[in-house]
Amino acid sequence: MNKRNYSKELDAKIEAFQKDGIYPRLLLHACCAPCSSYCLEFLRQYFDVTVFFFNPNITDKEEYHKRVEEEKRLIREYNKQVESGNFEGMHSDAKARKIEIIEGDYDPKVFYEAARGLELCKEGGERCRKCFELRLGETARVAREKNFEYMTTTLTISPLKNAQVLNEVGEEAAFREGIAFLPSDFKKKEGYKRSIELSAKFGLYRQNFCGCSFSQNNI
Ligand code: SF4
Repeated sequence: MNKRNYSKELDAKIEAFQKDGIYPRLLLHACCAPCSSYCLEFLRQYFDVTVFFFNPNITDKEEYHKRVEEEKRLIREYNKQVESGNFEGMHSDAKARKIEIIEGDYDPKVFYEAARGLELCKEGGERCRKCFELRLGETARVAREKNFEYMTTTLTISPLKNAQVLNEVGEEAAFREGIAFLPSDFKKKEGYKRSIELSAKFGLYRQNFCGCSFSQNNI
């Protein structure tokens, strides 16, 4: 079977929306501000974006609060640009609109439950798949509840994460809830590089581990 090119699939969808002059409501699962920086810069041109911060996998409370506050600060920065009309240093201001944020419930016990029995799996393995299922499953549920047309995740920007697994898990979750999944591979087309530039521009906190206590201990 041919390997899917999720980045091209995303481009094709956007082209179709642009042709029809529509800006679908998108619920974007976000893991942290640095990963969101490029995804938001790009997606806000074509979608009416609401960020969903649902990450019970960040098992350290202090770390969680640091990341969610940084996410909110980034969104405030982007919304200030929309208010002032000043998009200096940004890739494109076309159709940029304000971004909303919804913070999901935070309870690391939910993550530990999902990861039970997989604690010693290497990063990138089965524990991470369960972690994606947990986070994208909840994103799909909220997207359906709040009448979003599309959902996707910032996670595909990470060179350390398997875009194929993420897209499969996201598609399954969206399908179960009867909404559409937006395929992505945000690291492509220099997306990851741009996220580093934007993180520097906004002085974003960049953590050096994925999120759970296992990743913190290099498991
Ligand atoms: S390493 Fe990251 S993706 Fe994997 S289980 Fe831990 S927090 Fe989730």
